[in-house]
Amino acid sequence: MDSNTLLGVKNLKKHYEIAQGMFKPNIIVRAVDDISFSVNRGETFALVGESGCGKSTTGKTILRLTEPTAGEITFNGEHVEKLPYRRLRALRKRMQMVFQDPYASLDPKKTIKQILMEPLRVHKQFAEKERLQKIITMLEIIGMSEAYLNRYPHEFSGGQRQRIGIARAVILQPDFIIADEPVSALDVSVQSQVINLMLDLQKEFGLTYLFISHDLSVIEHMTDRVAVMYLGKIVEVAKTEDLFEAPKHPYTKALISAVPISHPAEKKDRIVLTGDVPSPVDPPKGCAFHTRCPYALEICRNNVPEQTIFDNGHTVNCHLFNNKEEENYATIHSH
Ligand code: SF4
Repeated sequence: MDSNTLLGVKNLKKHYEIAQGMFKPNIIVRAVDDISFSVNRGETFALVGESGCGKSTTGKTILRLTEPTAGEITFNGEHVEKLPYRRLRALRKRMQMVFQDPYASLDPKKTIKQILMEPLRVHKQFAEKERLQKIITMLEIIGMSEAYLNRYPHEFSGGQRQRIGIARAVILQPDFIIADEPVSALDVSVQSQVINLMLDLQKEFGLTYLFISHDLSVIEHMTDRVAVMYLGKIVEVAKTEDLFEAPKHPYTKALISAVPISHPAEKKDRIVLTGDVPSPVDPPKGCAFHTRCPYALEICRNNVPEQTIFDNGHTVNCHLFNNKEEENYATIHSH
C-alpha cells in the first residue's frame, strides 16, 4: 500500500439477507457489491450516485457501524474489518462521521455542552477541567460562542445544528471524517457556509474527508477525486476536474449533464436517462446500467465490464473503453 494512502477499501461487499417466509428463499440485497478504492491523506474523496446506489452503506461499513459481508478495509495500514471491538472503539476516535440530518443526529434532551463533552469522556480525552475549555475553543472555531453552551438543539437553526454536528466529530481531532450528505438537508443559502467551515477545518486540522453526496455541484466545489457509484458498484473514478471536463462512463455523463449551469452563456445538452434505477435485489446481468444506457451494446447484457485505467489514473468500467482501438471508443467521444 502507498504510504500516502490513509484508507484502503478492497473488494468490499455489504449484502443484506431478507427473510421471505417459511417456504420461500431469502432475498439478497447487494447494497455494496465488490468495490475498491483508496483515499489519500489530506484529500477529499467523493462518493456520488443516485439515492440507493450504496454510497451511505459504504460509509457505514467502513466504520463498521454495519459489518461488511466480505472484503478488506485498511486504515493507516490496520485491517479495520478484523479488529476486535475494544480496538475498533479506540480507532473510532480517529475516524468520525458527520450525518445528513442535523435534526436527528443531535440528542434533543442534551445541551450543546453535554453533546460536545460526551466524545471527550467516552474516549477519556483531556483532564476534566480542560474539557470545558476545549469545548469553548471548538465553539469559537465553528463561529459560535460560549453563550450557547447550555442551550438545546431545538434552539438552533439547521445550519447551526450541522456546525455542532461537525464540531462533535472534530473535537476528538480525528484524521478522517466520513461526511454523509452533510449539507443536503440545509437551505441552499447556508450550504456554502457549512462547506466553507469544513474546508477551513480540513486546513486547520489536516483532515481527510470521504464526502458522500448526490449533489454534483457541491462535489465539484469541494472534492479532489470522485468515485461514481451505480447499483452498489463503482463505475468511474477520476480527479474531480477530469471527471467534470471529460466524463467517460455514460452514467457519469448523464449525471453531469443534469447539473444546473452556473453561467447563462454556457450551453449544455442534457442527457435524460429513461427508466427507473433497477432494484439491488435483482440487478440486471452484465453491466447493471445496460437497461438505461443509450450506448448499450450486445456484450453489455451479459458481460460485466472490466476496469480500464488511463494514464492520468482515471478509471472506468464500461465495454466502450475495454479496447481503445475499437470504434466504440470513437463513437462515445463523438457524442
Ligand atoms: Fe453502457 Fe455498455 Fe458501457 Fe454499460 S458497459 S455503460 S451498458 S456501454
